[in-house]
Amino acid sequence: EQRYDQGLKKSRQGFGAKINALLANFRHVDEDFFDDLEETLIEADVGFDVAVKISDELRDEVKLRNAKAKKEVSDAIVEKLVDIYEEEGHEEDNSLHFATAGQPTVFLFVGVNGVGKTTTIGKLAHKYQQEGKKVLLAACDTFRAGAIEQLNEWAKSVNVDIVKKPAQSDPAAVVFDAVKKAKTENYDILLVDTAGRLQNKVNLMNELAKIKRVIQRELPESPQEVLLALDATTGQNALTQAKQFKDVTEVSGIVLTKLDGTARGGIVLAIRNELHLPVKLVGLGEQMDDLRTFDAEKFVYGLFK
Ligand code: GDP
Repeated sequence: EQRYDQGLKKSRQGFGAKINALLANFRHVDEDFFDDLEETLIEADVGFDVAVKISDELRDEVKLRNAKAKKEVSDAIVEKLVDIYEEEGHEEDNSLHFATAGQPTVFLFVGVNGVGKTTTIGKLAHKYQQEGKKVLLAACDTFRAGAIEQLNEWAKSVNVDIVKKPAQSDPAAVVFDAVKKAKTENYDILLVDTAGRLQNKVNLMNELAKIKRVIQRELPESPQEVLLALDATTGQNALTQAKQFKDVTEVSGIVLTKLDGTARGGIVLAIRNELHLPVKLVGLGEQMDDLRTFDAEKFVYGLFK
């Protein structure tokens, strides 16, 4: 698909091109080849462990198969990259979960400022609205007036409803009203923005716990997803952030934003391998259509073509 393709352009020119170059110069598989492969993978942000794992496994396989052909080696690399992502036994985690029919689905969004949380909510609201669903937003990042206003702008531009209160209101009070409204007015989906102040972990933990409690009082099976937004351009820092968020709340999946802005798309694999969290959505630009569900195979093949 074209948009996906465009969004991965930088990664393809960086990560993909380097591996392709490595293969182009390939005469036979020797230790230099594996060293170079490892280095390329590390540079692409797949993480040290993944890089070593891939080249180790490949080393064994190539020897076993006695692979000499370039094509065979490149296929094996692609296969390994996909395998890392599609962690055995976790296949069902890869897609977004929805409520049983007749109940509103609730997605909670967490993440620090600037990673693209609000934009993602706006894009997703647009997508569901286009599909004919009744969408409600809840502006629970009440810490910053700007955050409320920004979400409100998105609500207006994609034409969905929003529940908001003045800055500094209790986020739990906002979500309380939003859940009530979603239930009584038969909304299909409620997207909840939250403040991601990691500076005060205890507060954040309590705040998110309270938001969840309020949701569950009305909708015991919700939220169906707690999605952590991470900025792909921040590389290994995104991993550190994810680890910190995992300490404060249960996370069900990752939204990896700004994948269009990095040449190091390998961060997707590092997240999977180190955090065992699926990337459920990827941001490929600033416009409302620039959000996609994540497909490991499409992603990896997209890097190499
Ligand atoms: P928040 O503070 O986490 O809510 O972040 P915002 O949603 O305000 O996004 C911060 C900036 O990143 C804005 O300028 C967005 O337009 C931009 N942004 C968000 N997602 C993407 C993306 O997928 N690609 C690109 N290129 N920019 C993005």
